[in-house]
Amino acid sequence: MPLIAFDNSYARDLPQHAVPWQPATPPQPRLLYWNAALAQELGLDSADIATETLAAQFSGAVLPDGAQPIAQAYAGHQFGGYSPTLGDGRALLLGEVIDSRGQRRDLAFKGSGRTPFSRRGDGKAALGPMLRELIIGEAMQALAIPTTRALAVVATGETVSRERPLPGAVLTRVAASHLRVGTFEYFANGEDEDALQQLADYAIRRHDPALLDAANPYLVFLDAVCRRQARLIAQWMHAGFIHGVMNTDNMTISGETIDYGPCAFMDAYDPATVFSSIDERGRYAYGNQPAIAQWNLARLAETLLPLLDAESQQQAVAQATEVIHRFVDHYREQWLAQARRKLGLHTAQDDDQQLADDWLALLQAQQADFTLCWRYLADAVDGDGARLAAQFADPAALQPWLARWQQRLAAEPQAAAARASAMRALNPLYIARNHLVEEALAAASEHGDMGLTLRLLDVLADPFTERDALERYALPAAPELVAGYRTFCGT
Ligand code: AMP
Ligand code: MG
Repeated sequence: MPLIAFDNSYARDLPQHAVPWQPATPPQPRLLYWNAALAQELGLDSADIATETLAAQFSGAVLPDGAQPIAQAYAGHQFGGYSPTLGDGRALLLGEVIDSRGQRRDLAFKGSGRTPFSRRGDGKAALGPMLRELIIGEAMQALAIPTTRALAVVATGETVSRERPLPGAVLTRVAASHLRVGTFEYFANGEDEDALQQLADYAIRRHDPALLDAANPYLVFLDAVCRRQARLIAQWMHAGFIHGVMNTDNMTISGETIDYGPCAFMDAYDPATVFSSIDERGRYAYGNQPAIAQWNLARLAETLLPLLDAESQQQAVAQATEVIHRFVDHYREQWLAQARRKLGLHTAQDDDQQLADDWLALLQAQQADFTLCWRYLADAVDGDGARLAAQFADPAALQPWLARWQQRLAAEPQAAAARASAMRALNPLYIARNHLVEEALAAASEHGDMGLTLRLLDVLADPFTERDALERYALPAAPELVAGYRTFCGT
């Protein structure tokens, strides 16, 4: 029996949307990481399979039976400018599997060599960025934030040249699909309306089958994508997550976070925070993410115009515009609902938005650690505000807000003990802090030591339960490390 029961609908249904292509052969594949839990979810029984076999099959050395590797075509707006041809320049879709919950999932390589879309790139990936993608993806998963995930990371035994020579790796990525806003942009210049419609129909079948019978399926599909993104971005904001490169080719139709490049979790709360070294103007700063998501969705809406109303372009624009405007409402609704739960509120009152806004304004004014302040709110419910107060440069500044919040809590039916534990189950203690990620990546890349990466993955798999001896994983980096921190694009 083959290891993976592939069922490759993209290759089958959309042959002109991708190019069949073979991965490069790695000289010396070595399995560095295998996600056994995810493998099981995919119905992939790997327990009795030799490590060497996994290394060969998840690196391009020997393709798993049933894989039909293709390079997918897509375009994209990068930092606002349009690139008509991007595509899988260093990735290949191997195919799809139906997982244990009946969901179709993509399996794709990243770092598997040049393709027709590689332009000047080498098609390869360095180990460090692949491990960052692994770590942040698993951290997001544990925070219940929709994300693509790494099934395997295999060292290729090859050196890739970046600013300096680095060890190469191939990551196997699992995704609800690799359909991006940019995939629609590629087929949307009016030249091949059939190709566009086939893509849209495929996306609806795959992600929104309930909409197939709608009066205007493409319009409700656009709305469904907007709602998924509104929820996702609200989750990012509440986790202090900064994606870093929200180009339209890095935004999914499924609502999963994808393409972890120069991304990071924020330490001290400041909406202007930018991590990416290439984001000189702060386009993708933390506080801009909702507006950028809406901008990207407007690009998706433009691609769908010919399908929305074949007779009247004006009608199509009016309908699409209304849907895109509603993104703001969806986002605000999601943000507030999530904020209430993080604050321990189960009922809704008119002033809750203000209460949440004032809390964040306080964190910003005090340059307090975002994650720890949310986390230690639960201590205050238990009557011990010491750890919370210690996060504030001027603890007295916290008191008026705290009094307001406690007064608001008095109107809640829930008992205090239940509230504190519900809050701790939503406000993580352990996040993938930059210095922890960097030390893990450096150990693996420079010394071939995966120990810190595995340890960090282990901590982040349960971000909500405080554990003895893990204090250093909860703390922000020393201030001198935080100042001017930048993640690099990692290509
Ligand atoms: P990313 O920055 O990973 O979102 O990629 C943006 C575009 O550049 C995509 O079309 C990638 O396939 C392409 N790309 C990134 N890195 C490489 C590389 N090393 N070789 C070829 N293409 C690449
Ligand atoms: Mg990308």
